[in-house]
Amino acid sequence: MALEEYKKKRNFAKTPEPSGDKPKGAKSKDQAFFCVQKHLASHLHYDLRLEWNGVLLSWAVPKGPSLNPADKRLAMHVEDHPIEYGDFEGVIPEGYGAGIVMLWDQGTWEPETDDVDASLKKGDLKFRLKGYKLKGSWVLVRTRGYAAGRSGAGRDADSGRSWLLIKHRDDWAGPIDITTFAPLSVKTPDADLADILAADNPAIWRGNPPAKGGDTGQMFQRIIARALEIQHANQRSSAPSQAVPAKRTATKRAKIAKAGKRASR
Ligand code: MN
Repeated sequence: MALEEYKKKRNFAKTPEPSGDKPKGAKSKDQAFFCVQKHLASHLHYDLRLEWNGVLLSWAVPKGPSLNPADKRLAMHVEDHPIEYGDFEGVIPEGYGAGIVMLWDQGTWEPETDDVDASLKKGDLKFRLKGYKLKGSWVLVRTRGYAAGRSGAGRDADSGRSWLLIKHRDDWAGPIDITTFAPLSVKTPDADLADILAADNPAIWRGNPPAKGGDTGQMFQRIIARALEIQHANQRSSAPSQAVPAKRTATKRAKIAKAGKRASR
């Protein structure tokens, strides 16, 4: 799948996400890029992306990766993303995927197979990761899942899209909940989702509310409240007088508060 589906879902006049018009292109085979982006959208999930043939193959992992080989983490195969998206961290203001994106891990990957395309087609891709948090040998296995009718237009939209992400047993495996143990950004030191939202120059979403109540809505409320606290604290420590920057900050605070109101609807 090329980038048509990615582009179709997004309006690049309204989003700071890269358009993918200028792919950097793949480096050598054993130096391909990988990343995991922690993405708070309609639900919190972790997007695993592997650079291949000039795009980022992408799987959305609701519970995130696990270092425990006993855990089989559901990984929904989603549309390819442009290479440039790989180190994106920030706020997607509206539309598809609206929410906050953290670069949770990045590094390089290499296949543990001679023929990646054949492995993908077969639905069994073994590979090694060299990230900050994720290392060693892993496998993505497509599940037979809900594929009732396998041909024609009546085919389930999810058919063939559900895979499992499993850690192989090696020195990098262990009973550590890595998403809890290492929850923060690898791009912005010590940043959590609220810090990314409160950053000096994040785009704030303007359109569709990213979540409507429920657990995710409450998580947004907490994160928005934290972002406001961080901005208050930054204001106190960096602005001795209430001179010029106050207005800009006030505007930003109003924007965040407005976004919060939308999210709570
Ligand atoms: Mn996502």
